[in-house]
Amino acid sequence: MKNSTPYTRFQSTLHTVLKKMKMENGEYQIFDEPQFSHKQDIKVTRDDGSTLSLPAFRIQYNNARGPFKGGIRFHEDADESEVKALAALMAIKTAVVNIPFGGAKGGVQVNPKELSKKEVQEVSRSYVRAFKDHLGPDIDCPAPDVNTNADIMAWMRDEYEKQTLSYAPAMITGKPLSFGGSIGRDSATARGGFFILQEMGDRFALDPSEMRVAIQGFGNAGAHMAKLLHNDGYIVVAVSDSKGGIYSPEGIDPVRIAKYKEKTGSVSGEYCEGSVCDIDRMKMDNVKEITNEELLELECDILIPAALNNVITEKNAKNIKADYILELANGPTTPEADEILTKNGVRVIPDVLANAGGVTVSYFEWSQGRSGEQWTSKVVDERLKRTMLDAYKAVRREARREDMTYREAAFSVGLKRMLGAMEVRGWL
Ligand code: NAD
Repeated sequence: MKNSTPYTRFQSTLHTVLKKMKMENGEYQIFDEPQFSHKQDIKVTRDDGSTLSLPAFRIQYNNARGPFKGGIRFHEDADESEVKALAALMAIKTAVVNIPFGGAKGGVQVNPKELSKKEVQEVSRSYVRAFKDHLGPDIDCPAPDVNTNADIMAWMRDEYEKQTLSYAPAMITGKPLSFGGSIGRDSATARGGFFILQEMGDRFALDPSEMRVAIQGFGNAGAHMAKLLHNDGYIVVAVSDSKGGIYSPEGIDPVRIAKYKEKTGSVSGEYCEGSVCDIDRMKMDNVKEITNEELLELECDILIPAALNNVITEKNAKNIKADYILELANGPTTPEADEILTKNGVRVIPDVLANAGGVTVSYFEWSQGRSGEQWTSKVVDERLKRTMLDAYKAVRREARREDMTYREAAFSVGLKRMLGAMEVRGWL
């Protein structure tokens, strides 16, 4: 697809699935555009007194099944098409895991690494002031995404409560534990994907100690996943971040990598300072520096994109050697790449299923925010596992019954649930 955008790529999958579901009638055009698109340039005062004007978005795709739900990312590439696509994926995802939410997404076009902590706080508060009328526990409940975290969620809740003179712990999720967060939210995205891998492993009799895993992205999703897999005996052969990655066929210890990343700012920090690497030490540990592109094409069994979208394309799909791809990132694979991977027998566990653990525990946090309860980690874990495995089995059944890929089947399950809600509401 020439000149494709994240949203046209979403539409391509949507149309393929609606066709397979024999639902091509005009009435299903309801899925073609979000219900609401809110845009504003938000103003931020910098530490030196100058003013920044940043394009910001809150896009609300569908709320037939419940309040809009979806993260907010701070990234220089966040534009309307990307946020729209992510909002649509959220609606499918919340339906796949069958939690009572719709789908939305937010974004601010900014590189937060170029801002001070105070300025990032300003961006967060300014975002809430811009969109407060469209947010709220029963309206639209944001969460963290790329480059946003628990501190930012706390500032956003605080700003919302100030602006609306309310007590609203359930207006946002991914908050710090001390301010209405849920136990287990930080690792939920990875843990949800991990439960699916475990289930697949049991089904296909895969031995973790023989499974080599490459993970692109070492943030919330990727780093937690690396640690979970390492602890369970999988061999994590490669990890990367925005500065590049490292590879060792014998496996690397993600806990060490995380420590060095914290100290030096990069996953290769144990071996390299900027572009200068300690080659002897790397040779001794059998570690190589690799690029993010090389990581995707490594000899491995499981590939986990956990960074940005649009990284597996028609250009590199044919070079992918993994048997399984677990999409912790949103939208990492283009429709053309999907076709190539399917032809080559690569099994893709799609984003709308693989990374749904995050929004599932967000739902648990929202529920706790409304009831005032604090669930234990055992309760969170058990409910997360049950939700993820129910969703995985529903997708697997649909794939078998309708002769679909897992991505198509997940879309089909999600769309049917959304259509069910829209029908009874009288929207169709
Ligand atoms: P994060 O900001 O914590 O981490 C992102 C990671 O990606 C960082 O390690 C960063 O260095 C790396 N990265 C950035 N640009 C890169 C590039 N060009 N190449 C390779 N790596 C790059 O973000 P996160 O919350 O871990 O989110 C990662 C992905 O997972 C996103 O696609 C997000 O939408 C998706 N996701 C996250 C959650 C969640 O709960 N955090 C839930 C569902 C989906």
